[in-house]
Amino acid sequence: MQGWILLIVGLGIFLLVGVIITVCTLSCMARRKKKLQEKSKSGIAGNTALVSALQQSFAYQAQALAAQIEAGNNMQQDEECLTCNLIQMGSSMAYSDNTCPQCGRRCV
Ligand SMILES: [Zn+2]
Repeated sequence: MQGWILLIVGLGIFLLVGVIITVCTLSCMARRKKKLQEKSKSGIAGNTALVSALQQSFAYQAQALAAQIEAGNNMQQDEECLTCNLIQMGSSMAYSDNTCPQCGRRCV
């Protein structure tokens, strides 16, 4: 559980840093592009390709983050509840029909 939260938070920070770097790079590129445009009109096609590549990278990062969060949610759902674990370890008692008092699942 905690590992997943740390992973998601870490990923968020990682993405944030990536976004900041990308924004800095883009503004730097824009400034350089302006200077280049003032001098000559070459190199614009290369910059357009870079911008579209960055946009694709953004979309991919957002998708990856969404997938990670979804995976985390699925993990939580599939994870057995604490009471079930305690019953299986013998530290807690189930109801007489072997169902968990917490989640109602059948524990043996
Ligand atoms: Zn349970």
